[in-house]
Amino acid sequence: MARIGFVGLGNMGAHMVRNLLKAGHEVTVFDLVPAAIASVTPNGAKAAPNAAEAARGAEYVITMLPAGQHVRDAWLGAGAMAAASAPDALLIDCSTIDVATARDVAEKSGRAFVDAPVSGGIGGAAAGTLTFMAGGSEEAFAKVAPLFEIMGQKAVHCGDSGAGQAAKICNNMILGVTMIATCEAFALADKLGLDRQKMYDVVSTSSGYSWTMNAYTPAPGIGAKSPADNDYKPGFASELMLKDLNLSQMAAEATDADTPMGAAATALYKTFVEDEGGLGRDFSAMLPRFSARSRKDS
Ligand code: NAD
Repeated sequence: MARIGFVGLGNMGAHMVRNLLKAGHEVTVFDLVPAAIASVTPNGAKAAPNAAEAARGAEYVITMLPAGQHVRDAWLGAGAMAAASAPDALLIDCSTIDVATARDVAEKSGRAFVDAPVSGGIGGAAAGTLTFMAGGSEEAFAKVAPLFEIMGQKAVHCGDSGAGQAAKICNNMILGVTMIATCEAFALADKLGLDRQKMYDVVSTSSGYSWTMNAYTPAPGIGAKSPADNDYKPGFASELMLKDLNLSQMAAEATDADTPMGAAATALYKTFVEDEGGLGRDFSAMLPRFSARSRKDS
């Protein structure tokens, strides 16, 4: 059984720690919020007084933090986890962050480093069914794969450092764009007098089908059970969608990639979150937003 350091015990990290503990690993944890630490010590996690101490002596050190700046700080800044970790430790960051920071932190850590963002949300973290998208060497990926198997159901080695973040950002850009397309089509169908159930029956088995239509249907009472059936409580909050879309646009700028649909989706979610009450609502709440609007509102 491995000795694991784990930092960042929020919505996702705490569940991931519990699954590692359940599998018999020894996990030493740290979070800036004491209540987050207290949420996993009853499961057998050992509390460290700071991030560096959580990393010290561990074979694997994992972070699950909000954004790039937190990841940089924890590994290289005041947290100094990279320097405190053993020279042969394997470092893994599961946060969703920008590709440039992922590559830079990996390089400056001076250790084997894998970026491994996840999809599957809080439910997937709790159930141990996350998908990991990993960037780093073949050797590092092979070494961390048994831990991915505990916390998830699938892990894809996407390439060198940063490739995991690249895959995550591209996937979520598709997700944001597709959700908007699905919602505006439902709103159009309403105005055409087309019954939502009929719309679903046709599209979910025709060329307009998609994950957002078939597995996360944004119309209440239609298709898959989803946050739409729970008054659009997240789920996947609109502000998290906006975070990932912003990352896609940072990446597109850095690489001179033309992403007009990604840019439009980013602008729409920004307005929705900042000015239209979308904050704290599921990202599928774009449907009631469109339903309440007319062409003159655009
Ligand atoms: P969260 O905000 O619930 O948890 C982050 C935790 O990190 C908090 O407990 C916070 O106190 C702690 N933290 C922040 N800075 C720290 C530091 N320097 N040292 C120690 N602890 C620190 O976030 P989350 O929902 O668990 O998401 C974590 C990451 O996973 C994010 O990058 C997010 O984009 C990604 N993600 C989230 C979901 C989701 O559905 N929540 C799904 C996929 C990916």
